[in-house]
Amino acid sequence: MASSHSKVEYKVPKITRKRKRSDTEWKQADAKLKRNCGQTYVSRRRQQVVRERKVGPPCQCQDKCYTRVGEENVKEIFKSYWGLKDHYGQSVYFVGCITEVEVKRSRVKDRPSRQTRNFLYTVKVGHADIKVCRKAFLSIHDITDKRVRNAMKKVTPTGVLAPDMCGRHTPLNKISEDRKQSVRNHINSLQTVVITRELKAHIASISPWVLILALCTKVTWN
Ligand SMILES: [Zn+2]
Repeated sequence: MASSHSKVEYKVPKITRKRKRSDTEWKQADAKLKRNCGQTYVSRRRQQVVRERKVGPPCQCQDKCYTRVGEENVKEIFKSYWGLKDHYGQSVYFVGCITEVEVKRSRVKDRPSRQTRNFLYTVKVGHADIKVCRKAFLSIHDITDKRVRNAMKKVTPTGVLAPDMCGRHTPLNKISEDRKQSVRNHINSLQTVVITRELKAHIASISPWVLILALCTKVTWN
């Protein structure tokens, strides 16, 4: 026999602070990982396809850097650098390979040169540090001069690399201290309700939403 009262179901939405990752965020995270691994990715700002990293051509300097390092070692250095898969870790690696030095002659046509510091580049093979020219260093790792200079700018006077702030920000779902305090104030402002047997029975029969509304607006029932 069907009940004369139609049963009303209240759907209470699950209250959660966990954000669902959007498609855009997934794409950005995926692009970042691919960029740090040296794989092809689409740049976020310009939406351009950035090619996969590969060991570049040898330098043409008299020191024949590639020959001194050895072809297999060049490949191995490239592999381990991109295998780090981490921007900060890769920058730390540069600090271990590059030494900043004062430029001896800092004059360009009777005026002081703007560039007063220069870099000396080395790569590690076994326990040996092999000096290489700038072109060879950039080519071995397939990186730009800008990438190296930006990393070296962050080296503190004590030789420690400042933390990488790329993509670090306050999470969007983080509740501010002001909001937390306003919730605390609201809770403290509520009156204490003594739950009697009658009230308990009443609460059980009403929708949770009505209950929440009553508690939030300080509605009193007799
Ligand atoms: Zn060279």
